Amino acid sequence: METFTGSFTQQEPIPEEGIEAAVAVMRHGRLHRYNVEPGELGETALLEQEFAAFTGAKYTLAVASGGYAMGAALRAIGVGPGDKVLSNGFTLAPVPGAIAAVGADPVFVEIAEDLTIDLDDLAAKIDSSGAKVLLLSHMRGHLCDMDALMAICEGAGVKVIEDCAHTMGAEWKGVPSGRHGLIGCYSCQTYKHINSGEGGFLISDDPDVMVRAIILSGSYMLYERHSAAPPSESFEQAKWETPNVSGRMDNLRAAILRPQLSNLGSQVEAWNARYKIVETGLRNIPGLRVIERNPGGLYVGSSIQFRLPEASPGEIDDFCAACAARGVELKWFGAAVPKAFTSRYDSWRYARPQSLPRTDRILAGLLDMRLPLTFSEDDCALISRVIRDEALKLGQPDVATG
Ligand SMILES: *Cc1c(COP(=O)(O)O)cnc(C)c1O
Repeated sequence: METFTGSFTQQEPIPEEGIEAAVAVMRHGRLHRYNVEPGELGETALLEQEFAAFTGAKYTLAVASGGYAMGAALRAIGVGPGDKVLSNGFTLAPVPGAIAAVGADPVFVEIAEDLTIDLDDLAAKIDSSGAKVLLLSHMRGHLCDMDALMAICEGAGVKVIEDCAHTMGAEWKGVPSGRHGLIGCYSCQTYKHINSGEGGFLISDDPDVMVRAIILSGSYMLYERHSAAPPSESFEQAKWETPNVSGRMDNLRAAILRPQLSNLGSQVEAWNARYKIVETGLRNIPGLRVIERNPGGLYVGSSIQFRLPEASPGEIDDFCAACAARGVELKWFGAAVPKAFTSRYDSWRYARPQSLPRTDRILAGLLDMRLPLTFSEDDCALISRVIRDEALKLGQPDVATG
């Protein structure tokens, strides 16, 4: 029996160029983003310019985390206590957490078979809740029909904030993910597409949104030291009225991120080559369904999901244990008690109790696997053989016990 011995949580090292830039920052000691010499643009300001160029957004703000970016986005558009905010019933905990952090009330929307937000349920929930904001999560990098989603939201006067934690570098019909809604939010946490341990971005073309986001992030009266930002006159009123909810990025993290951002294109190719190998290996297994992606999207295959729709909870538990015994770490979203990272709406009991039967049914048989770039293409082929082997045993009588 083949087993895999690699680590599912081992990232690549930071590029040498990033290490050198980080060491230079530590040597001069000016880690705070506004601690610059006259006329100097620090690493954080340069990173913001580069991220704006990368996404095509007019304005970019680098912040302390993806969760922080979402919270600042909600505050910047005036979401406050008691307001309803729509979001996916399947996402990561910082998404509903950002809604709760501003005192707002999450309204969860069903997911579809391809794990994207269910557009019919979205339209229905807009009507029934009266919510005027959608915090849309591109969970695990799956993109819904963004044109259809924007038509629904624009028709109903709903503002869209995109959570692009898993879609940095992805596109919908040639438009970078994060550029459809009013605001795009990204994460640079270790398990995402660029890694500074913690970190995030907020992008927008709207000067009022960006002015408020910059002041919220903790710019004090130093906002002129931003360069991917609206002109300083735009801050005149907001600088008196916007609270400082400190969450800046620092020059050390920015130094680490800049070379990773410039490499992202080739990283995306490397991820997609690995994804394709695993996806191909998992096709045509009875009882196992791969997640079909909408051909309108360009994806980043940094993780892969598949379904065992007919298996019972006991069988899935055994399947995960058998894969784990052979070195293949899977996450099961249907487990009664969530382990490690939480992603299911009913784990967030601070929110009003809600019922999403379609999401329940899909998550009951949904499995998930990371694809770190430290895996070789051969590793990916081996991993898919292990999963295939174990999946083929499902529904078969147990040979040992007859
Ligand atoms: C990681 C992640 C975030 C943001 O996480 P931070 O750790 O706050 O940077 C947001 N949404 C999803 C779906 C994520 O996986």
